[in-house]
Parts: sequence; C-alpha cells; structure tokens
Amino acid sequence: MCQRVCESPNEFEAVHAQLKTTACPHCKSFGNLIRHGYLRGYDKENRQARTVRGWRIYCSKRGRATGCGRTFSVWWASKVKRLFLTVEQLWDFLKHAARSGNKMQAFRRLNSGLSSSAPYRIWNRFLAAQSAIRTALHRKCEPPKSTARQPAEHTLAHLEAAFRDHSCPIAAFQIWLQASFM
Ligand SMILES: [Zn+2]
Repeated sequence: MCQRVCESPNEFEAVHAQLKTTACPHCKSFGNLIRHGYLRGYDKENRQARTVRGWRIYCSKRGRATGCGRTFSVWWASKVKRLFLTVEQLWDFLKHAARSGNKMQAFRRLNSGLSSSAPYRIWNRFLAAQSAIRTALHRKCEPPKSTARQPAEHTLAHLEAAFRDHSCPIAAFQIWLQASFM
C-alpha cells in the first residue's frame, strides 16, 4: 500500500501545508490532493477513545480536479498499524521476548492492560514480518556478527546496528523505509 511515514508532529503539519504542491504518488499529478479523513487506532492510555494515527489523503477527481481518485496514507513513525503499543513499547517487548524466550513476562513489563493473548499475537506478527524486515535491512547495512541462537535475535541486532543513532530503531526503520514495521 502506498503511504508516507512522518517523523514528528511538525513534519505531519508540513505535509498537510504542502499538499497542493505535492505530487500524487499514484498518478504524479499536482494540485489534487486533499485530506480525506483520519486514520484512527486504539491507544494504550485510553482504550475507549480512538486516537488519530495518521491521515488518508485523497487524489481528487471530483468537479474540476484531475486526480486519479486513489488514496494513500500518512502515518506517524511512533505508531505501528493496528497495534495498541507505541514503537518504544514494541521494541522493549521484542527485545526482552527474544532474549528471554518468555513472551508473557516480556509483555508484563509494559503494563499495557492488554489481554494475555496479545503478546503471542504481536510476536507472531513480528515473525511473519521478519523476512521482509531483514531483506530491507540488508540494503542499509550488513548484519552484525552475532552469537544469537534465534533468528529473531539476529533481526533485532541487525535493526539496532542499522539505526544505532536513533532512540527507537523501529521508528527509525519506518521513517527510513516509509512503510510500516509490521
Ligand atoms: Zn493521483
């Protein structure tokens, strides 16, 4: 899916301010992009309310507009699609789960209030995304020499090595790849 990942709220605002002079990623036309609606997700602090996680942008073909009628999304780097956790929490969970092999214990550290099936669901999502993540990381740098026994540990070490200047490798990955981590 076509999308864009923003680093900060300021960059998010800048994207909106520049929509009129931004080319549609699908048809490359100018002047047709409009904000179409928010992308919402549940947040860890407030599970009743859905919070804004990004926008859907529409390439208008209505009226005199000459766009293609397709949409794309703009996401925050601090969020992962369809996930309650922040990227920092996800990173913390994955690292501890990979190291200890105990997903439930790694998940309890977060105090997220999520159900006991959540750690397994999230872990399986990570495993499913892992080969794509590694393929992407190889374009950035070689994997570090590692004594890790589990592929998951290798992947996380590679991620850490690729984005060692960033506080959260997952956020950095999303910004760099302009795609969701998993
Ligand atoms: Zn278009």
